[in-house]
Amino acid sequence: MSESVALAAGREFDLIRAFFQDANVPDDLLLAPGDDCVVLANGIALSTDLSMEGVHFRRDWISLEDIGYRAAMAALSDLAAVAARPVGMLVSIAAPADRAEDTITIMRGARAAAGESAAALLGGDLTRAPGALAIDVVVVGHTMQPIARSGAQVGDAVWVTGELGGAATAVDDWLHGRTPEAAAAKAYARPVARTAAARWLAEHARPSAMLDISDGLAGDVAHIAAASNVGIVLDIHALPLHPAAAARPDGHILALGGGEDYELCFTTNMKDMTEVTRGFAQRFGCRLTRVGEVVDDSGVLLRENGMLRPARGGFQHFQGPSR
Ligand code: ADP
Ligand code: MG
Repeated sequence: MSESVALAAGREFDLIRAFFQDANVPDDLLLAPGDDCVVLANGIALSTDLSMEGVHFRRDWISLEDIGYRAAMAALSDLAAVAARPVGMLVSIAAPADRAEDTITIMRGARAAAGESAAALLGGDLTRAPGALAIDVVVVGHTMQPIARSGAQVGDAVWVTGELGGAATAVDDWLHGRTPEAAAAKAYARPVARTAAARWLAEHARPSAMLDISDGLAGDVAHIAAASNVGIVLDIHALPLHPAAAARPDGHILALGGGEDYELCFTTNMKDMTEVTRGFAQRFGCRLTRVGEVVDDSGVLLRENGMLRPARGGFQHFQGPSR
C-alpha cells in the first residue's frame, strides 16, 4: 500500500488507498496524492471534483447557473486548501440530450466562479448522459510551497475561517420539505473558495497543516490527524456556527458533520493570533476562530462541558446518509 495516501479511516478512503496500491507515483512531487491537490515538482497544482445530480445537488434546489458555479468553486477550493494560485480549469459535463442547452447556463455559472478566482477556462469535455447530469471540474494552479495536511504538531492550535453549517442546514431543510433561510440557501448555492485568504494565511499565520472543509469539519480534520499522526480535539462550544445553524438545536452537528462549507481549517503553532485575526477580518470581512488543538493521540475528539468523546466522521460517499 502506498504510504503517500494518508487519509482517515472509512470505506470511501479504503477504496482510494486501494487505487494507489502498487501505483506508479513520482517521487519528486511537492505534494503527494491523498492531499487536497497533487503538486508536481514544477509547482503545478492539480485537483478534480465531480458533482452529481441527485448526490451533490438537485435541480429543484438551485438554478443551473448555481450548479455550475458551486461545482467550479468546490474544485477551486482544493487549490485554496494548499494555498495555490489558480491558473485555470477544464470543465466536463454529461447532460441528457433533451437538456443539452442547459449546459450553456451551467457553464455561465462555472465561468463566473473561474472569473472571481482569476482562473481561465482552458477546456473540458461534453457528452450525452443517459439520465442524471454530472459536472467534473479539473483545476490547475501553482505554488512552490504547498501547505500539506501532514504538518500538524502536538501543541498547535486548530483554526477555521468563516462560519460552518450553513450549507448543511439548507440541505437538511430541503431534504425535509422545508424552505431554507435565504442565507443558508446561498451558503450552499454560492460557496466562495477562500483563494486569496489561503495565500494570505500562508504568509501571516504560518499554517503547519491546512485543508478545505468539504465533508464536514469533524471528518475533514480526521485527515489532518491521520496525515500528521496526531490527535485533534475540537471544542464544540467554540464552533463558529452559521446563523441558520445556530438557530437550530442540532446546529453543531450540522457544522461538524455536514459538508460543503468550503471554509479552510488550519493548524498553527503561533501563540498570539490577535494581529492575524484582526488583519484577516479587515481584509476579507470574515472571522478566524480557534476551534481546538492538536494532541498526542489519534483521531478526532470532541470536547463539550469539559468531557471528551470520539467524533463521528463527516459525510462519506458509500457509507453516509442516502445523499
Ligand atoms: P477533497 O474532499 O479534498 O476533494 P477527496 O476526499 O475527494 O478530497 O479525495 C481525497 C484524496 O483522494 C485526494 O487526494 C484525491 O485526489 C484522491 N482521490 C479521490 N478519488 C480518487 C480516484 N478515483 N483515484 C485516485 N485518487 C483519488
Ligand atoms: Mg479538499
